[in-house]
Amino acid sequence: MKDKKEILIIGSGIAGLTCAIESAARGIHVTLVSPYPSERAQSVLAAGGINAVLHKEASEDSTDCHISDTLKGGLNIAGKEAVRGLCEDAPQIIKWLEKIGTVFTREDGNVAQRAFGGQTYNRTCYCGASTGKQIVTALIMEARRYECMGLISRRNRTQFMSALIKDGRCYGAVVFDEASGNAEIIRADAVVMATGGQNCLFGKTTGSKLNDGYAAGRLFMQGVDLKNLEFIQYHPTTIRTAQKKMLVSEAARGEGGRLYYMDGDRRVYFMEDKFGPKGNLMPRDVVSRCIYETGKQVYLDVSFLGREKIMKRIPEVYDLCMKYIGIDISRESIPIEPSVHFFMGGIAVNLKHQTNIEDLYAVGECASIYHGANRLGGNSLLAAVYSGKVAAAAIDDKAERREDVLFDEELNAAKKALQEEAGGTLTAEDVRVKLASVMNTNLGIVREDRELLKGIEDIDSLISECGSGLRGSAYERYSMIPVLTLARAVLVCARERKESRGSQLRRDYPDTSEDYGCATIISYDGGDFSVTYDREGRYES
Ligand SMILES: Cc1cc2nc3c(=O)[nH]c(=O)nc-3n(C[C@H](O)[C@H](O)[C@H](O)COP(=O)(O)OP(=O)(O)OC[C@H]3O[C@@H](n4cnc5c(N)ncnc54)[C@H](O)[C@@H]3O)c2cc1C
Repeated sequence: MKDKKEILIIGSGIAGLTCAIESAARGIHVTLVSPYPSERAQSVLAAGGINAVLHKEASEDSTDCHISDTLKGGLNIAGKEAVRGLCEDAPQIIKWLEKIGTVFTREDGNVAQRAFGGQTYNRTCYCGASTGKQIVTALIMEARRYECMGLISRRNRTQFMSALIKDGRCYGAVVFDEASGNAEIIRADAVVMATGGQNCLFGKTTGSKLNDGYAAGRLFMQGVDLKNLEFIQYHPTTIRTAQKKMLVSEAARGEGGRLYYMDGDRRVYFMEDKFGPKGNLMPRDVVSRCIYETGKQVYLDVSFLGREKIMKRIPEVYDLCMKYIGIDISRESIPIEPSVHFFMGGIAVNLKHQTNIEDLYAVGECASIYHGANRLGGNSLLAAVYSGKVAAAAIDDKAERREDVLFDEELNAAKKALQEEAGGTLTAEDVRVKLASVMNTNLGIVREDRELLKGIEDIDSLISECGSGLRGSAYERYSMIPVLTLARAVLVCARERKESRGSQLRRDYPDTSEDYGCATIISYDGGDFSVTYDREGRYES
């Protein structure tokens, strides 16, 4: 009999690392798997910052204000208790991150805080231009201490294939070891999913193509509930490059950047005209919608800040624009466009980050609980750390040692999937390109029933095309149907929510309706998709 609890964490970005460290600190043995090292997780891309109410004595900010900004920004459908916990713990989280080596930018000796969209006060802490990278580096170093103690075992080049579920309980996972080319079982007293968002469904976004949504799609097909999939954040200020959309951090508007379009030779500062002097810093859903409604090329101007301030406060924006579009932002405005950035929806979890399957947890961006219909900038890094801590504590309290259950059938099925010959003429790359086109065409900032239905039909055709064989690597072949199934679920949820709220903007249902004032839950039952509304707050306890 083993004497330590053993857990499996899938994904080693900020959420997975935090959960690993907090579990190991409780004496739990962790196996931490991901296809790439943490240095390549999407978390390292985060630049802008992480929110917490600090320095209460020097400002009028309060935890209650952080909570109300978050709930209001999420259009009042985020889990209230969950948001309370998130905001209350935020100051401690900043202290802990500092303690383990995160170097936050300081002003007058205190952690500096900048303005971010939808927030009443300046509460976004940052590490120069590389907040995510700094946090990941500190977490890697901390995790290494536990690796040396034998409490964390890392496995790179390892992909999640499926969860081992029997009678509503999770016993571990089947993984694909890329080095050996084999499928194998990792047993665990609890499994924590920390696989990030689903950017790759949309092709070119601000995020990582490695976050393809496979894990969420596969779990969905195994009976795990997903939530609020229709809420997809379009970040208002991105620039287009050949490979991806590059983010112009909200910090640029936090420092005073102004959005405008040209009417002849006159600049129209449409956000300020509509919302007053703080208009440029409205929540992201509002800014993206307003940009869309202009129907024009929109520009972001920071040149009036002057070169010295730009190089001190937002050097990353200067470098980005110079490098990718050859624009010197101390002289010229930046042509921007909204692009897919973040997923408020994901795996449905309760306050302890448990899914509807016992001993299966989800943390970080792959889980859905804190952001409702729209996320405030700076709250996602916070949620990644906080959720990792919450899940570790819950597992410590609950997960029990169990008798082994046999999963030979699951392992054999996984091995068979890996051995299946590539066939047909369709390549995985073809399917990815078509998928991205379906999603971008039918799930834009503004949607309507006709488009959503067309999207569902197109995904169904892609699923049946894949049935006649697919060319690509073993991973590409076994991952494609779950990825397409997830895409279909997103379209189904967007079609079912017949109202406009936050990032779900319906041309055919432009009003917000109280009938839809709660989360959508989508379940998969032998191929049928069923959408329900969580009016009783089933996932909020
Ligand atoms: C450009 C950009 C800037 C951002 N800036 C900010 C910001 O300033 N402030 C803020 O709060 N938020 C920001 N965000 C959002 C924030 O960075 C993310 O939400 C957060 O870092 C997610 O962390 P995570 O650990 O949940 O996921 P990730 O960091 O995405 O990690 C996911 C992990 O899962 C692994 N994985 C994926 N699929 C599998 C699989 N099938 N099997 C095994 N492993 C798998 C990946 O390899 C990776 O290790 C930004 C996002 C982007 C894209």
